[in-house]
Amino acid sequence: MKELDWANLSFGYMKTDYNVRCNYRDGKWGEIEVSSDEYLNLHMAATCLHYGQEAFEGMKAYRCPDGKVRVFRMDENAARLQSTCRGIMMPEVSTELFEEMVKKVVRLNQEYIPTYESGATLYIRPLLIGTSAQVGVHPASEYCFLIFVTPVGPYFKGGFASNPYVIVRDYDRAAPLGTGTYKVGGNYAASLKANAIAHEKGYASEFYLDSKEKKYVDECGAANFFGIKNNTYVTPKSTSILPSITNKSLMQIAEDLGLKVERRPVPEEELDTFEEAGACGTAAVISPISYLDDLDTGKRYNFGEKPGPWSKKLYDTLRGIQYGTIEDKHGWTTVVIE
Ligand SMILES: *Cc1c(COP(=O)(O)O)cnc(C)c1O
Repeated sequence: MKELDWANLSFGYMKTDYNVRCNYRDGKWGEIEVSSDEYLNLHMAATCLHYGQEAFEGMKAYRCPDGKVRVFRMDENAARLQSTCRGIMMPEVSTELFEEMVKKVVRLNQEYIPTYESGATLYIRPLLIGTSAQVGVHPASEYCFLIFVTPVGPYFKGGFASNPYVIVRDYDRAAPLGTGTYKVGGNYAASLKANAIAHEKGYASEFYLDSKEKKYVDECGAANFFGIKNNTYVTPKSTSILPSITNKSLMQIAEDLGLKVERRPVPEEELDTFEEAGACGTAAVISPISYLDDLDTGKRYNFGEKPGPWSKKLYDTLRGIQYGTIEDKHGWTTVVIE
């Protein structure tokens, strides 16, 4: 293993030894290629550059206390990428090809998988882009699917903690019938300004209401939202939320732990009734929300300075499953390195 200060890594990019690639040409996917080149040789008229034919995924490989390396629910990431492909007219990557490439790139870069003790992980970034030249607005005929990895530091450097969020009404991340349910770069481009404003004002992230009526809760920046009240895990349902695999897993764990689970529209006023609230996604698992400000109305929704008991329990359980210390009864993890 590399001798690096894993615990002090940020969520940045670090060069690793290899990435894996596969090209789609003449209506089919080719052979998996291993590359040590960080660059792509791309046609200047490629559709990914002009018309946003770009999809990505995000997952992690965990070096566990038993010495094994595990990845979490990669079949779900494959299925979500397939859904994104259907959404923006790209050829689907089969679950089999996806999983084979994930395993390969993790094994090839095992020197870069941080120690368990550091709390750092190996971030896995699958990327699919339209590569053939097109000037009219049409899908490409050729594509490149690649996966690179980079070590990332622990999300919570000083331990599991709560952070403030802010509602933005001047910007939408995604339209009600747009691409919000797909993991495409365009949604992120649309969120950069709101995110910068939230950071400037001292918040961890921006918080979106539904873009049509501004009445219902949508997402917390690039993470899903959940609230807890009366022994119930509540998470919003809308046509513009990205289906988080962390959220899906937390819903199952909540049920396993005896909570009721509700996935339904959540009106803004209901925020006042939650005992705990959090943002969830691969990066943090859960990032508990201390308070949420609505600057337009002057309203502040308080969820507690410190993470609440259910947030802590859900967080510990999901992390325990990912690190192989809690029984994986749903078969969510795959050992990639024994
Ligand atoms: C990736 C992403 C999430 C989190 O999804 P996970 O599968 O839990 O990592 C949530 N919201 C948006 C907008 C995302 O892009």
